[in-house]
Amino acid sequence: MPTWARTLTGHDGRRYRFDPGSFSLELLVTGGPGEYRRYEVLHAPEDLATWLRDCRLTTTAPITDVHVTHEDLERVKALRDAFLRVARALAHGAAPDPAHVEALNAATAETPRPRLDPGTLALAWAAPVTGAQVLGAAARDAVRTIATGAIRECSADDCRLLFLDTSRSGSRRWCSMERCGNRHKVRTHRVRREAEPL
Ligand SMILES: [Zn+2]
Repeated sequence: MPTWARTLTGHDGRRYRFDPGSFSLELLVTGGPGEYRRYEVLHAPEDLATWLRDCRLTTTAPITDVHVTHEDLERVKALRDAFLRVARALAHGAAPDPAHVEALNAATAETPRPRLDPGTLALAWAAPVTGAQVLGAAARDAVRTIATGAIRECSADDCRLLFLDTSRSGSRRWCSMERCGNRHKVRTHRVRREAEPL
């Protein structure tokens, strides 16, 4: 499988690559409940369709034909918000609200279907990819991701990004080395330099 990462823009305008490690965790960068509301990017069904055309499902096959209704969008956002609350709780070592876990369980029915072109054997998602399928894909991925027990939050004080720690040692600390990892390195270096006698 090709390595995959989404390009994000920090509050300082710098762009960086972030691999959250799973489709459901990728969905969490689109916004969320409460304090995450200001990051919301899914305002209309077309926003979700646009977001999907660039998501990690495209590492299997391109997503070209998407059909999302207003109701689909609201359901996907409700699922995203429930998963965000569960994932945050787990990343902080707390017990998630069972109602939020059940919301994920309730939405695992459908997912997009991969299909082969009988002539060329090229892989494609059966068209159209529907909002209900996106909901199912996110829910299934969320329950699998939770079951790994490896959801982490970036160690930077000012970063809330959640990711799946797939490192063999279970020691991934940063959303992105080029972003928070590097900022930490620069800060540590500065503190060390300031501590040196003149
Ligand atoms: Zn970070």
